[in-house]
Amino acid sequence: MNSQSAKDDIGCVVDILARSRSLLFITGAGISADSGLPTYRGIGGLYNAAHPEEGLPIEELLSGEMLRRRPELTWKYLGQIEQATRGARSNRAHQVIAEMESCFERVWTLTQNIDGLHRQAGAKNVLEVHGNVHNLLCTQCPWRQTVADYSGLSLPPRCPRCQAIIRPAVVLFGEMLPGETMERFYEQLDAGFDAVFSIGTTSVFPYIAGPVEVARRSGWATVEINPAVTRVSRLVDVKLSLRAAEAMDAIWTRYRACNSGQPKSV
Ligand SMILES: [Zn+2]
Repeated sequence: MNSQSAKDDIGCVVDILARSRSLLFITGAGISADSGLPTYRGIGGLYNAAHPEEGLPIEELLSGEMLRRRPELTWKYLGQIEQATRGARSNRAHQVIAEMESCFERVWTLTQNIDGLHRQAGAKNVLEVHGNVHNLLCTQCPWRQTVADYSGLSLPPRCPRCQAIIRPAVVLFGEMLPGETMERFYEQLDAGFDAVFSIGTTSVFPYIAGPVEVARRSGWATVEINPAVTRVSRLVDVKLSLRAAEAMDAIWTRYRACNSGQPKSV
């Protein structure tokens, strides 16, 4: 894409926003890449090394089964993942979405990311489909705690109440998606959206690509922001081949210049 057509496409997105009251953002590792997080694979796309030392695939090491059988191994890699997020700050793309929550009637974000950066940016309507690395829970009793990081934990950490292994509230390989989160998401999807944005995700999971397909069938506007071509690139009305922070900043700057920042909900 040359810079002229990228500029025109940003104008198209601004037009979409101007006629929208409800927005859905579907985000993946690409939105956190602008905060310096790796986007390789593993839970939440946060595992960055090509070959784990144990010679086992990362999908096996970070599985619910391995956590039960050899928690010290799973926790070694959970610790590395948390380390990758430690000190990360939300970027302009997270911040723009958070600001949009107060300028449109209804704004929701479905994220695959476990880094908590949407909430750090101040967004409230965030559905973390793969969980959040900072929320810990006991595998045996109701003990739960939210931590800023894992620096105070000795791995594998044990429950202060019952001594069982604790774990982060994230979806490990081979585990189900959180039912309550998905229910809330489908409630919102059923209510409909004026526009759906897919940002920084390759959309390999059906529950991530699906909403874009629903949007297309329902006649809602669709936008993809991703430097790469993905599974949903062919489906969207506007494809911006840009990084998330750059694109969202350009869109929001232009939108506010044209719409004088009047909240639509009043
Ligand atoms: Zn416990």
